[in-house]
Amino acid sequence: MKDCDETCLSRIDRFSFMSGRRSRMKWMDGHCDVLYKMWKSESPISFYECNESLDVTYPAAHSSGVGIQVFAVFVPPEVPRSQFLHAALKQVDLFHERILLHGKKVVPLLSREDLIRLKSSGRMGALLSLEGADPLQGDTAHLRLLYRLGMRQVGLTWNHANEVADGIEEERNGGLTRFGRSLVKEMKRLNMVLDVSHLSVRGFWEVIEEDLPVIASHSNCRAVCSHVRNLGDEQIRALIRREGLIGVTFVPKFVHDDPDQASIEGVLRHIDHICALGGEKCIAFGSDFDGIDQKVPGLEDTGALDGFREILLQRYPEPLVRRWTVENGFQFYFKHL
Ligand SMILES: [Zn+2]
Repeated sequence: MKDCDETCLSRIDRFSFMSGRRSRMKWMDGHCDVLYKMWKSESPISFYECNESLDVTYPAAHSSGVGIQVFAVFVPPEVPRSQFLHAALKQVDLFHERILLHGKKVVPLLSREDLIRLKSSGRMGALLSLEGADPLQGDTAHLRLLYRLGMRQVGLTWNHANEVADGIEEERNGGLTRFGRSLVKEMKRLNMVLDVSHLSVRGFWEVIEEDLPVIASHSNCRAVCSHVRNLGDEQIRALIRREGLIGVTFVPKFVHDDPDQASIEGVLRHIDHICALGGEKCIAFGSDFDGIDQKVPGLEDTGALDGFREILLQRYPEPLVRRWTVENGFQFYFKHL
């Protein structure tokens, strides 16, 4: 593991919003599918009570010190195309109605000022992200409308091709379409974050030098686990160069080539690999809770994050752990929202 350079640590300390006595903020989780699960469920599921249906609930997240949670809006491919936008809007409505609840405990993150207020409020910040631009249905007006409803981040594709680009599971490995390029331009104008998780390799290289903030919200390292959803070393180096974020994820098949062998130790190997490439300032976590059925033992739900943090602290210095679990993510959004 590369040693953390002094200038970086002192800069982080200066911007350390989490070190105040009032703040319990220990974690940022860069990806969960709570909204998708709520939308799919036939009966209402409460975010504010611990329950069997959700991996991420407010009481569990609060007890683990989750200060920022990114909520994905995801419309699965089985939905008829004509219903894509409707399904996304339903999930945005659930975000407002069931998660924010008039901002009593969870506040929307729309700007840098929201992050500043968050540090002393003891509330949880919630960032809305679109996982796959399919609901935009080839119209940038839909992007602008979702932005006005609170969307601040867009993953261009899920695994398949859409109007914007090819997803990672398309063998032809296509890059951005003409609409894709105009969408990126509009995202730049609106100051939105671009998420490259799920994007084709060619699409990745087409957007990585674009002048907008980039993040891989839930992807691991291909050198450690060969799944196509993971990032190659050159992609990781590019994200480091762009001062992006890499959300190390707990999806068993992205942790270990044999998902049944996925372990916390396996998750740490991905962290070590990113550090070996010089990326300790880019590491964050994107659990993918509520988007996965199989779990890494010991990382079953958001309530397990506190114990996972203890394991990290046994292995790495505290300033690095704090950076990975919360500060890198906080600073990234502080810089870009
Ligand atoms: Zn995903």
